[in-house]
Amino acid sequence: MSNMFPFLDLAALNLRDETALTEAFQRVLRSGWYVLGAEVSAFEAEYAVACGVQHAIGVGNGLDALTLILRGYIQLGRLVEGDEVILPDNSFIATALAVSEAGLTPVLVEPDSVTFNIDSAAVEAAIGARSKAVIAVHLYGQLADMASLRALADRYDLLLIEDAAQAHGALDAQGRPAGSLGDAAGFSFFPVKNIGALGDAGALTTHDDALAEQVRKLRSYGSSRKYVHEVQGVNSRLDELQAAFLRVKLLRMESDAYARRKIATRYLAEICNPHLRLPQAPAVASSHVWHQFVIRCEQREALQAHLERSGVPSLIHYPIPIHKQQAYHGFANLNLPLSSQLAGEVLSLPLYPGLADTWIDRTIDACNAFRA
Ligand SMILES: *Cc1c(COP(=O)(O)O)cnc(C)c1O
Repeated sequence: MSNMFPFLDLAALNLRDETALTEAFQRVLRSGWYVLGAEVSAFEAEYAVACGVQHAIGVGNGLDALTLILRGYIQLGRLVEGDEVILPDNSFIATALAVSEAGLTPVLVEPDSVTFNIDSAAVEAAIGARSKAVIAVHLYGQLADMASLRALADRYDLLLIEDAAQAHGALDAQGRPAGSLGDAAGFSFFPVKNIGALGDAGALTTHDDALAEQVRKLRSYGSSRKYVHEVQGVNSRLDELQAAFLRVKLLRMESDAYARRKIATRYLAEICNPHLRLPQAPAVASSHVWHQFVIRCEQREALQAHLERSGVPSLIHYPIPIHKQQAYHGFANLNLPLSSQLAGEVLSLPLYPGLADTWIDRTIDACNAFRA
């Protein structure tokens, strides 16, 4: 048995920037200002440019980014309590929790069988009188079909929100970035994401001045002037330290996406085993930043054990669909067969910038040697 290499080597990823991150730390330490200050403003400006939007607003984490978008729209009267928000069942639970936390009702729908992203036909079928918004998750780093979702949103007067927590830097066919493709977008900078802080952090992006103003208030106790509170906001401020680190990490967004794409290209070309179903290469290469490389296998447990014996780590994103989570027991009887089937078959292979060629080789060889 070979020694397992890491599924994701966060220390190695961050140590590429040891000098710049240390400088950032010292800059903040010496400034004496640690929450919502010059570093946050600078990062917000830089991230807005990177996403091609008017506004980027730093918040505590990705869940808060999504929740605050929805709460901002409630403040603006665009959403009211009990309105329905349509989202994919096969996502990280945060997508649904944001809706619940804002006092809205999640409506879970099936993914597309090829991309695993939300299925536009399923969205349309789920639209009812109380449907007011759709959240498109760019799952595993691949842009959802925003053109068809935009058409639906326009036709049925729905807000279109991106959960871009896995898709920093993904570009559509016209070169427009994730974060600029809907009415608003939520990003996470949790350490394992494609742009990761050294702790929790998030941001939301939008072209909408009114929404931006509401969210800036909401993230800081509903206040735009000290000790004057216009709404019952929350504390979801971004730390200066994380913002300073993120300014460093942001410089690698494009080159890291390129590195991830190169590894994905090798896996797609060199993994060949009738028991494994590989993801389809996207028609537009830049529309996928490969947060995860996810294969399907009906004998997933045997495959994962085989990979482990071969010294290849793997993870499952995600083993339980949202409607089967105890937290959403009210949805247990929903009929979402494809989402349920995916949860039983998906397996994520290691893929990150700096993954050694020998480890890529080992992953390919182990996948090809698997016999069901
Ligand atoms: C990580 C993630 C989130 C939540 O981000 P946090 O920063 O952990 O709150 C939301 N949606 C998706 C799809 C994610 O992958």
